Amino acid sequence: MSKNLKSMTLPELGAVLKEMGQPAFRAKQVYTWLHKGVRSYEEMTNLPKALRDSLAEQFPICPPQVVRRQESQKDGTIKYLWQLSDGNCVETVLMRYHYGNTVCISTEVGCRMGCAFCASTLGGLIRKLEPFEMLDQVLFTQVDSGLPVSHIVLMGIGEPLDNYENVLRFLELVNSEDGMNISMRHISLSTCGLVPKIDALAQEKLQLTLSVSLHAPNDQIRDAIMPVNRAYPTEELIGACRRYYEATGRRISFEYAMIDGINDSVENARELLRRMKGLPAHFNLIPLNHVEESPLKPSSKETVARFQKCLTDGGIPATVRRTLGGDIDASCGQLRRKYNKEKN
Ligand code: SAH
Repeated sequence: MSKNLKSMTLPELGAVLKEMGQPAFRAKQVYTWLHKGVRSYEEMTNLPKALRDSLAEQFPICPPQVVRRQESQKDGTIKYLWQLSDGNCVETVLMRYHYGNTVCISTEVGCRMGCAFCASTLGGLIRKLEPFEMLDQVLFTQVDSGLPVSHIVLMGIGEPLDNYENVLRFLELVNSEDGMNISMRHISLSTCGLVPKIDALAQEKLQLTLSVSLHAPNDQIRDAIMPVNRAYPTEELIGACRRYYEATGRRISFEYAMIDGINDSVENARELLRRMKGLPAHFNLIPLNHVEESPLKPSSKETVARFQKCLTDGGIPATVRRTLGGDIDASCGQLRRKYNKEKN
């Protein structure tokens, strides 16, 4: 296991401190400080100096460094590019909604899923993030911005279910009472559709929202834009969503990036309606964010509206996602990509 204390649960941290000869009550003190986003042990003013020193020596905190920070003039969205201790960079976005401040975190450095429209996958997967590196994105976004975070979405760089163990541990940490105590109901996890992992997650029976990046009504279209579909075709994926709903009682949220001439016809919407029958769902229609390297273009406003009407008329609630941070490269891997290009 990672030597970073912030990847440990409270009992695990307790075991480490016991080994160091510390009384039981110390664990909660240290855990609480770490989960407040302190940058050094010196800030842990209720700990004896000797303990602070030996913790600093054995378990350096190494907070991520801000290498870029962009704030939208339009809607207050803030985007961070963090440098991790090994020099790799990931992005985090803070969005300000009426119901609370939402942080969108990355779960991997890069991604190996290869979706045709996504900037995060262009350089492949570099590595998976450790639990503390996901937690740090939330903590230090909150510290840096001074805005309390109440909601989290795992929709940044990476495929969360491709980093299953670490993501589950992150969820446990961020949900813990002595930590940030963020309710599972305030967390959304987005996946491109790794069927066996969706089945595994269903068994965890968490109250989070599962978001599935569907983006197509059938295999022909989905195969062309999402390589993962060849491993887990739509029939299997929709089957897994049905099982997920049965196991958890949680309605699935589907993401659907509207791509001009590819997946945005009324015929496509009708096919979706047929295939979703009986599955409580909600559709999030996202006009494609144009990525420089890709020939794919967003659907027009009118096309999106027509598609939305077709779904809602057919009984599936569908909303068009408001795009935040349009002026600051706020979507999916674009800032990291730009930064890496500038560096090289
Ligand atoms: N790997 C996960 C989560 C990260 S991406 C997943 O696939 O769900 C978060 C969402 O943004 C996904 O729905 C993804 O398909 C979508 N997305 C990626 N690039 C996009 C783009 N250029 N325009 C619109 N949505 C995009």
